[in-house]
Amino acid sequence: LLNVKNLTKKFEGHTILDGMDLEIKQGEVVVVVGPSGCGKSTLLRCINALEPIQGGEIRLQGDLVEYGSKNLASLRQKIGMVFQSYELFPHLTVMDNITLAPTKVQKRKKEEVKEEAMQLLERVGLADKENSYPRQLSGGQKQRVAIVRALCMHPEILLFDEVTAALDPEMVREVLDVMLDLAKQGRTMIIVTHEMQFAKAVADRVIFLDQGKIVEEDAPEVFFENPKTERAKQFLNVFT
Ligand code: ATP
Ligand code: MG
Repeated sequence: LLNVKNLTKKFEGHTILDGMDLEIKQGEVVVVVGPSGCGKSTLLRCINALEPIQGGEIRLQGDLVEYGSKNLASLRQKIGMVFQSYELFPHLTVMDNITLAPTKVQKRKKEEVKEEAMQLLERVGLADKENSYPRQLSGGQKQRVAIVRALCMHPEILLFDEVTAALDPEMVREVLDVMLDLAKQGRTMIIVTHEMQFAKAVADRVIFLDQGKIVEEDAPEVFFENPKTERAKQFLNVFT
């Protein structure tokens, strides 16, 4: 589904992603972990063509994902991204936040999108919040709305960048449970997280990044129980 070849990303002459290869199959859940500053967010931003790249290529279903290219708008609809900060529109209700892009960008019928949005809101336990504004919601609720908003675009792949990092501990679980549910439904996802228990539970494959390179790539059982490199061992020690 997604094919990253020899991806190189530099900021001001510094190499941030250093010739990265990554292939993600339909239905696969890949968790990306690594120390702060290793390039996790940059990787997701490149995959969503939010950043120009200096080498290599990224293909989604064979189509080139290219910063600034003409067909980017249609390509981006296939990629759902959820960030650490919710980025909901503060002046729109939950329902309007969700239905805006599907109706304006994808030109789908409002009624049809609303119906789907209601089903998804129910699924994440927010059926009673359709008319609320973001400021009236908790962080965990906002993040679940952001996930529903991404899902309503019918993306091929979902990218999550530390979506629970800004949440109070008691709200982390409700968001992680939604993501576990999506994994069970067979969605293709790339998840950046510092929640190691969750990573273990949700991942088909774990990728450990360090200094812009994939240092380890393994099944979660292997990575968490028997990391191969010293760097990964040190990294995991912080969490135990
Ligand atoms: P964290 O776990 O803290 O979120 P990360 O792995 O997501 O870290 P990135 O945000 O991808 O790390 O950043 C990787 C490196 O790229 C860092 O050294 C950062 O300073 C640098 N960087 C990121 N964005 C920019 C930018 N817009 N301009 C210059 N340097 C940047
Ligand atoms: Mg980051």
